[in-house]
Amino acid sequence: MDGFRWDYFDKTATPNFDEIIRGGSKAAALIPVFPTKTFPNHISIVTGKYPENHGIIANRMYDPVFNEYYYIGEGSKPVLDGKWYEAEPIWVTVEKVGLKAMTMFWPASEAEIMGYRPTEYFVYNGSIKHDDRINQVLKWLDYPANKRPTFISLYFSHTDSYGHRYGPDSEKTKEAIKEMDRTIGNLVTGLKERSLFGQVNLLLVSDHGMAPIFSDSIIYLDDYINMETVEMVDWTPIGSMIPAFNSLNTLDTLKDAHPKMNVYKKGEAPERLHYRNHRRIQPITLVADEHWSITTRKNDVNDDHEKGATGGAHGYEQTYASMHGIFVGHGPGFKPGFKGPGFSNIHLYEMMCRLMGVSPVKNDGTVDSVLVFLNN
Ligand code: AMP
Ligand code: ZN
Ligand code: ZN
Repeated sequence: MDGFRWDYFDKTATPNFDEIIRGGSKAAALIPVFPTKTFPNHISIVTGKYPENHGIIANRMYDPVFNEYYYIGEGSKPVLDGKWYEAEPIWVTVEKVGLKAMTMFWPASEAEIMGYRPTEYFVYNGSIKHDDRINQVLKWLDYPANKRPTFISLYFSHTDSYGHRYGPDSEKTKEAIKEMDRTIGNLVTGLKERSLFGQVNLLLVSDHGMAPIFSDSIIYLDDYINMETVEMVDWTPIGSMIPAFNSLNTLDTLKDAHPKMNVYKKGEAPERLHYRNHRRIQPITLVADEHWSITTRKNDVNDDHEKGATGGAHGYEQTYASMHGIFVGHGPGFKPGFKGPGFSNIHLYEMMCRLMGVSPVKNDGTVDSVLVFLNN
């Protein structure tokens, strides 16, 4: 559930989530990787690697070797192109040993990666109804044993969309939380009808949280530099900048430009961000503080999704609680009625491998970090 913040369960009545949580294992938070954007985090969840090690270091990227751009959203061509992905997703690990993976959306599940694809998958189309996505999953579970999947993914952008438009603390976002509770309730009902609730391991996760943003908390880059001298690959709250010339000058000018904007030369971002070593990380990275947006007076933020500065945003450092997501596990592999500490989403790949009895490939996570949630 995209952008489902760690505290959303407590914002409104969620009877269906409550039932899963009562019978399962809940973490205080799922801590995202930096940048706390959708694609970097979804790929970290399914590969166990930091973005600089799986290649999807942002939702919008430029690769100097390919001389091509990567961008997300419905109709995106690069999302379908396996060459962008440099780490093995869980569905490939599953397919490699002859088991079946089926995906009702997940970033990159529509691409051939390392010669493999999920046995069944869908190219992203946000207008597919929530209930139809649930029905597809139930249909897969009804397959005969020799065709049945070992791994299934589901994806919903709903809470993210509402969080951006109305802000995380709005009444509208509460409605979105309720809609997700209703939707997952239908999944639980379908599982119960098949005597599978308690037989399957169900993991509820989100990629990041959401922070309110304000129209008086905006950093205007054209107040400091001539925008003609730079190319912006990504805008806000993480700016990705290629200076056309005289790069040190631009860097120096920006470094102390705004107290709410951190400016990092490539290779010099703080270690906690794990954001140093990839050719798609550009010479200058701008990182806004929580609640702040980066744009220009001309307002040429060319990503509609992020336009304007009211509502909500994410992408900020993962050290802000507002950027934290959720983890709930339910089923035979999880301790029932257990509440545990928050953990980084890079450990989920190892957790899922353990639950399915497949060997993980090398990654940045460890199963030891999440054993506290598991039955042994
Ligand atoms: P963000 O901009 O980080 O909030 O990303 C959320 C957006 O990612 C959603 O609203 C979708 O438009 C997009 N998205 C999610 N899954 C996919 C996918 N599999 N392929 C392309 N775009 C996607
Ligand atoms: Zn997201
Ligand atoms: Zn978003």
